[in-house]
Amino acid sequence: MCAIVGVFGAKKASTVAYYALFAMQHRGQEATGISTADGEHISIYKKKGMVSDVFSQSALDNLRGDCAIGHNRYSTAGKQSTNDSQPVFAKYKLGEMSIVHNGNLTNKYEIRDELIEKGAIFQTDMDTENIIHLIAKSQEGHLVDRIRDMLEKIKGAYCLVIQSRSKMFVVRDRFGIRPLSLGKLKDGGWIVASETCAFDLVGAEFVRDVRPGEMLTFEEGKEPCSKQIFDPDPHPCAFEYIYFARPDSIIDGKNVYEMRLKMGRKLAEEMPAEVDLVLPVPDSGVAAAKGYADGLGVPFEMGIVRNHYVGRTFIEPTQEIRDLKVKLKLSPIKHMIAGKKVAIIDDSLVRGTTSKQIVRMLKEAGAAEVHMRIAAPEIKYPCRYGIDTPTKQELISTRHTPEEIASDMGADSLGFLSIEGLTSSLGTDRTYSLVSFDGHYFAGGNAESPGCSIFL
Ligand code: AMP
Repeated sequence: MCAIVGVFGAKKASTVAYYALFAMQHRGQEATGISTADGEHISIYKKKGMVSDVFSQSALDNLRGDCAIGHNRYSTAGKQSTNDSQPVFAKYKLGEMSIVHNGNLTNKYEIRDELIEKGAIFQTDMDTENIIHLIAKSQEGHLVDRIRDMLEKIKGAYCLVIQSRSKMFVVRDRFGIRPLSLGKLKDGGWIVASETCAFDLVGAEFVRDVRPGEMLTFEEGKEPCSKQIFDPDPHPCAFEYIYFARPDSIIDGKNVYEMRLKMGRKLAEEMPAEVDLVLPVPDSGVAAAKGYADGLGVPFEMGIVRNHYVGRTFIEPTQEIRDLKVKLKLSPIKHMIAGKKVAIIDDSLVRGTTSKQIVRMLKEAGAAEVHMRIAAPEIKYPCRYGIDTPTKQELISTRHTPEEIASDMGADSLGFLSIEGLTSSLGTDRTYSLVSFDGHYFAGGNAESPGCSIFL
């Protein structure tokens, strides 16, 4: 779960990449970086921290060239490492290259062991380093062929932007698990980004999504060249719509906010509750709660206030800090809630920490009844395709039924959206990656294999 951007043929490419990363800050807050190419050299600047803190005007000015690639890194639940930021840059036989990657390779450790066996050395835990090694070791004479060589070896979920001193290559895996869109900049040039909300900020026009299994090549003075290098088998990630993406983004033709509204309406059909008010868990549950309230015909109220100066709950790795952070972040409007029967809607239930505290908070605020509703199915399997989920044992729904969880959290009831309810809300015109809910690991890996949140 990261954000990537690639800008080609633009004046001040580093500034365009900066704003795109700023718009996609929600996809990763741990570290950020940009590299640019001016035809002769690649320059890179990356650091831990948020986009607006990391880059100064002079840092952006020093990133020269009309091609820029950038990355926001998500802080995973495991060990944090200062090295693990992107772009990843290398000098190799054909010159210089820089790479950004969003996703998770399912054969990372096989590839890594093989490379280490042959003498390769690694400085980070990132799969991106595997990718750069595979390109550097290929015997092909052109970078594009080396990239194809590398792509034959990797498995799993990836969106890649690779920069040489004069070209830019963009690839989306054949399942199209992670999102990636192509846009055209107003003053000339192209942009690819994980989410279309980046286009809105930089004034780019959306062209289309990068197709699953497609490679785009950008070269000066030429139109972008598209090659379908793998047979597409689209499985866009349902979790992008449920939680991860920004509501104003359009992923594979579907607006995220609208999908969340539909999930909420479906949840009202499947799991109604007799309540006076519907409240969202801000901000992640807002759109689904609006849909749920519309579906029930009950007033929707912003009955819980969010302190916006606290980061996302998941960012802190230890359980104690996570507990405290929910309280730091959310606070109920007592006079609105006291004596009322309320439904509280969140987008997903992972460990159960957030919901448990919210139920307690609402009861302490005097709610007569609290009915928890989750606008996603039960998460029973860790994602191996780029969403940071904890181990199977830590997922509360693998160990407990909804009734047990409700009783543990002190809620009067708990209801989830069904898998069918989710897919019918998203639209039955395509197959989605539902791995966290159904354990169907179609792109490799399994529930026990090391995922993106486990560092060896
Ligand atoms: P938990 O408290 O562990 O049950 O986590 C549920 C909360 O975390 C919900 O409010 C979600 O919006 C949010 N959430 C779900 N998945 C993720 C994720 N992969 N990273 C960060 N937050 C998440």
